[in-house]
Amino acid sequence: MSGIRTRAVHAGRQELSSLGVHALPIDLSTTYPLPDAELGEQALLELAAGAPAAASPVYGRLVNPTVSRFERALAELEGLPDAVAFGSGMAALVATVQAACLVTGRRHVVALRPLYGGSDHLLSSGILGVEVTYTDAAGVAAALRPDTGLVIAETPANPTLDLVDLDALVAAADGVPVLVDNTFATPVLQNPAAHGATYVLHSATKYLGGHGDAMGGIVAAPAEQAAAIRSLRVATGALLHPMSAYLLHRGLATLPLRVEAAQRTAAELAARLTEHPAVAKVHYPGLAGSDPHGVLGRQLRGPGAILAIETFEESDVLLSRLRLFTHAVSLGSVDSLIERPAALTHRLVADEDRLACGISPRLLRLSIGLEDVEDLWGDLVESLEVPIRMNVIPITS
Ligand code: PLP
Repeated sequence: MSGIRTRAVHAGRQELSSLGVHALPIDLSTTYPLPDAELGEQALLELAAGAPAAASPVYGRLVNPTVSRFERALAELEGLPDAVAFGSGMAALVATVQAACLVTGRRHVVALRPLYGGSDHLLSSGILGVEVTYTDAAGVAAALRPDTGLVIAETPANPTLDLVDLDALVAAADGVPVLVDNTFATPVLQNPAAHGATYVLHSATKYLGGHGDAMGGIVAAPAEQAAAIRSLRVATGALLHPMSAYLLHRGLATLPLRVEAAQRTAAELAARLTEHPAVAKVHYPGLAGSDPHGVLGRQLRGPGAILAIETFEESDVLLSRLRLFTHAVSLGSVDSLIERPAALTHRLVADEDRLACGISPRLLRLSIGLEDVEDLWGDLVESLEVPIRMNVIPITS
């Protein structure tokens, strides 16, 4: 098999030569001239049942060639037969839970915390009609019920960077399909399907697009499960827009280079931050003590480019003083972002649940971009020193 850089550049582009084009074509059609009445009807039935393609796309909500190319590319990078793309990561999660739980009648979900706050809120709120048991990796086997349809985990997890041993999780799930949110690791650093995950989900809004200008979500799965999800997408109309599919697919070509470069900077910053007197704790998979199950190397090919720090006191001073880091939610862009999960991304999770899974109000999540490491370090040091001078953060030895 070719290397990840080669696959990232070529995935999903195999048919371009036969189309006589070099760049990814953007098909903005909302409807399609039908080859003949019978073929049109047949195509509609096939697409409604979840087929990835048919004799005609028929209608823009059923399938779109630009979106399909992005789906084939991501499926190839994740080592799964198919993938289904949506207008956002949340839409992809909704359809996957519906397919795995509502369609099958197994309405119980086991979810590991922490999860992205939006996912946590979606599952807890009851709006999906599923019952959720939250646990940690050690509690999965005990949490299973005869009607459990899905086990959900994130690794590295948003925002604490906790790592889950996927081989052990899949074994504990005992045949119940496992969904892994691979947004933080990307297929460059981790392929959950190689460890037995059935569904691999991405907020494509993050690293896959990589430039902060396209929303999207995608879930890779075996053919049968992907068909069930695609059939739901046809019915509910949550298709990814072809302009975004184009941007997300184009982003894949530079994904390995972006992740590798940002990861180098993140590792350096994480190491330096552990020594900084204003920082109480650094969360980063590459640091000593962060990987109790030894997944780095075996499952996760690198520590990634997200880190989190805990300051000594809850304070937004740092956020307002930074010049290069933008105080904003989201992550995985070419530029560095910082946010306080307890106030933003995880605000909708109940206080006690947030604290129980390690999301302190003093925790700040940093998404490291492609800037020069010394410039980012200078920005952090200047801003971190402000509260010390003002005696907002006590310096402890
Ligand atoms: N999963 C993770 C790990 C995320 O960080 C996010 C968003 O921040 C999502 C899923 C949801 O994706 P989207 O915002 O594209 O709906």
